[in-house]
Amino acid sequence: MTRVYPQFVVAKFGGTSVADFDSMNRSASIVLADDHVRLVVLSASAGVTNLLVELSEGLESRDRMDKIDTLRAIQHNIISRLKSPSIIGKEIDQLLENITRLSEKVWEAPSAALSDELVSHGELMSSLLFAEVLREREAQAEWFDARKVIRTNSLYGCAEPNISQVEKQAEAHLRPRIEQAIVITQGFIGSDDAGHTTTLGRGGSDYTASLLGEALHAARVDIWTDVAGIYTTDPRIVAQAQRIDHISFSEASDMAAFGAKVLHPATLLPAMRKNIPVFVGSSKNTAAGGTLVRRETENPPLYRAIAVRRKQTLLRLHSLNAQPAYAFFAETFAILAEHQVDVDLVTTSEKGIALALNATSSTSGEDNTLTTALLTALSAHCRVEIETGLALVTLIGNQLHRNAGVCRDTFVELDAHCVRMICHGASNDNLCFLLPDDAANDAVAALHRRLFE
Ligand code: ASP
Ligand code: MG
Repeated sequence: MTRVYPQFVVAKFGGTSVADFDSMNRSASIVLADDHVRLVVLSASAGVTNLLVELSEGLESRDRMDKIDTLRAIQHNIISRLKSPSIIGKEIDQLLENITRLSEKVWEAPSAALSDELVSHGELMSSLLFAEVLREREAQAEWFDARKVIRTNSLYGCAEPNISQVEKQAEAHLRPRIEQAIVITQGFIGSDDAGHTTTLGRGGSDYTASLLGEALHAARVDIWTDVAGIYTTDPRIVAQAQRIDHISFSEASDMAAFGAKVLHPATLLPAMRKNIPVFVGSSKNTAAGGTLVRRETENPPLYRAIAVRRKQTLLRLHSLNAQPAYAFFAETFAILAEHQVDVDLVTTSEKGIALALNATSSTSGEDNTLTTALLTALSAHCRVEIETGLALVTLIGNQLHRNAGVCRDTFVELDAHCVRMICHGASNDNLCFLLPDDAANDAVAALHRRLFE
């Protein structure tokens, strides 16, 4: 019998939630506990993507074998706990063989397309195993290749989805399946027009879940991770961090954009477009509850959270001649645009511009923000100073511009540090400080104490 699921839920499980057999089993219980969950999006088992990224960088034979042995052990630990492991074991071994072959190939002739194909195997393996775990629990589960639906451009390592294509393909290939079975698919991976595998950037599985939620008009997207929701700051930095039960899309997407690790920064965009609530919880402790992210929250507080983003670079550019400021700014930004520099924060003075740049989140992990070509072009036009080893600490709140005392509350806690840049004004809802990286934890802890404890 075909049932129609208008109120269906997409559930995404992160790497720690599918790290081993017991974690997969716990996650399977979460899926089976809610009839509305019809589509499951998975990350690779914890540690697997890191190993594949190392392999994709090209390793010598012996290192290659070591990594592949580690990968095999992770998979076989899960397989050995299955009731009838033979069929699935063969499929996984086939994928491990692909990994071996691709990592040899990438060592001989590296290419970004090859790297993405290699790295995609983590999600292919975890999803096959998870579908099997569900089937062994008598669920009607169907494995599905996300690359059929997540259509992207060819920016390997950080590909961008084509939203209308994703909607079209999801309607054609996924809609009929979720009405028949619980569909298990991969986060993070997609395919371009040529049919090559692409990846959405590190942590991209969250983004897949919300893209599919958007495409199929899900009633909710659940993100199951290893923390019970979104906290006022990173609990690893400040033990007193408090869980936020309800948070708005804009607050949570600011948090993700400014470095809070709990969600991939692009995740909330599809959810916002279709007004789909996103729940974040811990698969290891469902009783602990979690955070619901939705369009509006009651009584948005003045101060919501503190985020921190590491590995920031400050680029300071000084005009060399007496040209007017507007001409200097226009020329500078033209160069930045030509080199596709993702400028993050900007401050200006009459003869200079300071820019904070964020390292890319590309799957390859290499930071190519400051290329030689860019620096050559900039140096021909102005004096360039670069400072690295910085961190961006951001206070996220609501209507900060209407409240006197915000500067006093924050500046007093940063008194001990040399602040390199301050940004406020373009957004009413955040205030950013660029500091030396080694000062960031102290600054976050001090701000948290004053504003949240
Ligand atoms: N497995 C990928 C990563 O580790 C994607 C994800 O987990 O979201 O980045
Ligand atoms: Mg993640």
